[in-house]
Amino acid sequence: MELYSGPINNLISELAALPGIGEKSAQRLAFHLINMPPSKVDRLANVIVEAKHKVRYCKECYTLTDDEICPVCANEKRDHSLIMVVENPRDLAAYEKTGKYQGVYHVLHGAISPMIGIGPNDIKLKELLERIKNADVKEVIIATNSSLEGETTAMYISKLVKPLGVLVTRIASGVPVGGDLECIDEVTLLRALEGRTEL
Ligand code: ZN
Repeated sequence: MELYSGPINNLISELAALPGIGEKSAQRLAFHLINMPPSKVDRLANVIVEAKHKVRYCKECYTLTDDEICPVCANEKRDHSLIMVVENPRDLAAYEKTGKYQGVYHVLHGAISPMIGIGPNDIKLKELLERIKNADVKEVIIATNSSLEGETTAMYISKLVKPLGVLVTRIASGVPVGGDLECIDEVTLLRALEGRTEL
């Protein structure tokens, strides 16, 4: 016997498929949505659709943007010969918030993780190599997380990029092991950047 009507079941199962949302949270959210005023639900549905259709990858660094090129890549004052490699747009945002980093970024959208079947071809690694080959890049700063996946990815990138004659550095391990970059305060982030070492 179905406990709820079809549309509610559909809503619960779609919500439960989102990361970090279990069956119970999905039910709670579903009933919350059903009890919301129709205008608010419409607005929520519209912003989801709008974000999905308007947001895309920056052609240069692959962060999320609503333009062809993101504001960082479009800024001529930034040092385009310095590329910081991060796992996701949230890490980029964390470094941008410090206002001190003058280079550009490359967003991998993940990290290599053989345990869950994420290989080098599943992240934006080919794109990074293409970029380095086609531009005058002096240094690649690897700022992946200090988790096992982040370290594996850093080593992998280093092996591919060094033969191209580019300096490869890794941010200092002032960043706590397994710590997400986005959760770390600005002082620690800057110290990690300044204390970077050659790989
Ligand atoms: Zn960009």
